[in-house]
Amino acid sequence: DHLANQIAAGEVVERPSSVVKELVENAIDAGSRTIDVTAEEGGVKFIRVVDDGSGIEPDDLELAFERHATSKIRTGKDLFAIRSLGFRGEALPSIAAVSRVEVLSGAGDDGVARRIVIEGGAKLAFEEAAAPRGTDFRVKDLFYNTPARLKYMKTVQTELGHITDYMYRLALSRPDIAFRLEHNGTQLLDTAGNGDLQQAAAAVYGTATAKRMIPVEAETPDYKISGWIARPDVTRSNRNGITVVVNGRYVRNFQVAQAILAGFHTLLPINRYPLAIVRLEMEPTLVDVNVHPAKLEVRFSKDAELMEAVQRAVRAALQRETL
Ligand code: ADP
Ligand code: MG
Repeated sequence: DHLANQIAAGEVVERPSSVVKELVENAIDAGSRTIDVTAEEGGVKFIRVVDDGSGIEPDDLELAFERHATSKIRTGKDLFAIRSLGFRGEALPSIAAVSRVEVLSGAGDDGVARRIVIEGGAKLAFEEAAAPRGTDFRVKDLFYNTPARLKYMKTVQTELGHITDYMYRLALSRPDIAFRLEHNGTQLLDTAGNGDLQQAAAAVYGTATAKRMIPVEAETPDYKISGWIARPDVTRSNRNGITVVVNGRYVRNFQVAQAILAGFHTLLPINRYPLAIVRLEMEPTLVDVNVHPAKLEVRFSKDAELMEAVQRAVRAALQRETL
């Protein structure tokens, strides 16, 4: 089973930003209002995620590190109607297999909590502790026991870049949650978590740019589209400025990005790219998120209807602005 966890780790934990992603997604699934991320040396040396969510019940803390132990899916049917970010139950055992993990989690108002320490998949401690409701998750020395993988880590700046990119997109996709990110003692992100997308955009892009954002709204029988696109004077030289959020999950989807671009390019030069945040909401049965272990890819069942609507919504927003 230790071997299985190390193999799964290869798919789930590619680099420090994957750890941040999995831990932050768990915090979101736990209903957290505030999520604090601290990293050192690009996350290779240290990652800490502190949340104020439901916490893990004392009896479940050890179990959470077992493979396919998920509290989020109960039946095969649930797999086709996923509302949570996690569902595979692979992240915690995968992370613990390739690092030194320490978790302190409390699930009640009584201050009673549990602490667990796992290194390279081996449990070193499990004991009673005191903590408020929520989870404090520390990951040290990522890949310390898998030197081949450690060798593939890029510079601190590159690894940090992946973390900030993810956290920025998350802040944009969930303006209802307060996110903080600190690296080597420097604060890189601090959002209010008050639900205001424009305020979240200001935290990520700066106030001047956030002020240039115009709303994108549309609805079809199956989809609700909302978000912002920057005015034509704020463009980018590549498509990295496009953020797509599906049912609260930041995803990479070529089709949706193409649809946004198609709407944009009917009015603007094809060598420019938009800064846009597009949120799509739909019945979970209309989207398959179980395409890849990292859950960054999705497939839509009524894609023609969706892409057409996205393209039209983007064009309409820009048209309104330029008229
Ligand atoms: P998954 O998210 O796919 O269910 P994980 O391995 O990421 O699997 O987590 C295993 C389980 O541990 C989750 O299903 C959840 O019950 C619990 N868990 C993990 N992190 C947290 C957290 N921050 N707050 C509350 N529960 C958590
Ligand atoms: Mg998870």
